[in-house]
Amino acid sequence: MRVALILATMVLAACTRSGQPDLSAYSPEPGLTRLCNNPALLGQVLDDVSEGACGIDNPVAVRYVAGVRLSTPATLNCRTANTLADWVENDAQNAVKKLRSRISEMTVFTSYACRSRNSQPGARMSEHALGNAIDIGVFTLANGVDLSVENDWRDNGKKGQAIRALHGSACGPFGTVLGPNSDRFHYNHFHLDTAAYRSGSYCR
Ligand SMILES: [Zn+2]
Repeated sequence: MRVALILATMVLAACTRSGQPDLSAYSPEPGLTRLCNNPALLGQVLDDVSEGACGIDNPVAVRYVAGVRLSTPATLNCRTANTLADWVENDAQNAVKKLRSRISEMTVFTSYACRSRNSQPGARMSEHALGNAIDIGVFTLANGVDLSVENDWRDNGKKGQAIRALHGSACGPFGTVLGPNSDRFHYNHFHLDTAAYRSGSYCR
């Protein structure tokens, strides 16, 4: 009863003078808004990015994805942000179920970056340069357990199973999924991007 009273007081306090509830009062952090018309995405709307061959139209800085906090806001286009939200909600949380917890934070290594693939001179433009890609190195669960691509990929127990299941679950929602089995550049993170391949998803 007392809790209900406190909650009612909070709701009233969150109403603006016009009588409309001020939804920003429920944001987990101040200054965040809904992104890409998707209630699962919270963060900030950014100005268009344009640097030579790199850039993003209507970019967003994503802070929360389906309730999961990102360690650093990820600058992405809406197509990629929406794909990330769908994957976290429908696939990634399922992949860690055996650990009897849920993903609460993801450590972002890179999102938008104006560079070539793997930063190699002469290589093709990276999907990161178009806001189509995100690199994730660690999945932190609500119970405090860290699932790290670098430390747990070859683990024989439940943590290894979960991190490999996360990699597998991203294949399909994302057009390209790269992990430690792909090349030496991906020993410590998953690269996820929304580039479309004629032959379907490319996952290694
Ligand atoms: Zn990457």
